[in-house]
Amino acid sequence: MKFMIVSKGDMRSNEIQETIKRYLTEFDLVYDIEEPDLVISVGGDGTFLEAFHRYVHRLDRTAFIGVHTGHLGFYADWLPSEVEKLIIEIAKTPYNVVEYPLLQVDIQSQSGEENVCFLALNEATIKTADGSVVLDVEIKGEHFETFRGDGLCISTPSGSTAYNKALGGGIIHPSIEAIQLTEMASINNRVFRTIGSPLILPKHHQCILKPAADQSFLMTVDHLSKQYSEIKSIRCRVADEKVRFARYRPVPFWNRVRDSFIAEGDKTFRGQHD
Ligand code: NAP
Repeated sequence: MKFMIVSKGDMRSNEIQETIKRYLTEFDLVYDIEEPDLVISVGGDGTFLEAFHRYVHRLDRTAFIGVHTGHLGFYADWLPSEVEKLIIEIAKTPYNVVEYPLLQVDIQSQSGEENVCFLALNEATIKTADGSVVLDVEIKGEHFETFRGDGLCISTPSGSTAYNKALGGGIIHPSIEAIQLTEMASINNRVFRTIGSPLILPKHHQCILKPAADQSFLMTVDHLSKQYSEIKSIRCRVADEKVRFARYRPVPFWNRVRDSFIAEGDKTFRGQHD
């Protein structure tokens, strides 16, 4: 099996990276940066996002696993103290694959010449430095509302515990193939009206955001951000591709939610299924 390791870059993460690399190569696994079957992220969820985007072009051939040296560890669910156990599991045991849904964002430019497409593991957001964001929101081909406010966030189920949660969105189990649209400070009065609640769209319902005026937008996709102008539309839907996690033991989603946000102390994950 070919593997590679993405480190957060701090001393502790780099040491763990070196330990894993040394032992796995002693077990005759091949360190391959170009075409890894397994990508090990050592750091926090931010490091995991980086690892995901580095290998987003080969999701069908690469599985991911995370060791957390950060403080939260939502995607990274192995502790530094468990690294030896993890090395033996990777070297000796075939892993189970658990797949989570992703968000696909297609940005169409007015000229049609600068169309781009992204996959997000957590979410995409649309904001502006240019007054309020004004977007016509279409759902399943029908006008739904005209949004005015600070911005919109469209998240995946696994990203529902990230920015989406801070915006009052619901936490969605990643076995549900859906995306969630949440508002950032919408303007609501007698003239402007938005739904106000987070919307959860199933796989077969896409939403299209159309700038109501010529505005430039700051778009984020996970930890990445870029400025766009002259946009015709932004289409958001559940992607056909999925992210694949290598599982050597069960990591129940609700235990992770509890251990990340509620419980301090015992960070050992228990239970039967994701
Ligand atoms: P950052 O601002 O340095 O860190 C954002 C925080 O979100 C970190 O604590 C990170 O965990 C955590 N996080 C990332 N994915 C998560 C998930 N799926 N569930 C729960 N927590 C998660 O930014 P970054 O490290 O580059 O990460 C980019 C992400 O930050 C974005 O995808 C967005 O979700 C999130 N964000 C959140 C807010 C907010 O909550 N108000 C605002 C902007 C961006 P680690 O410490 O383990 O890396």
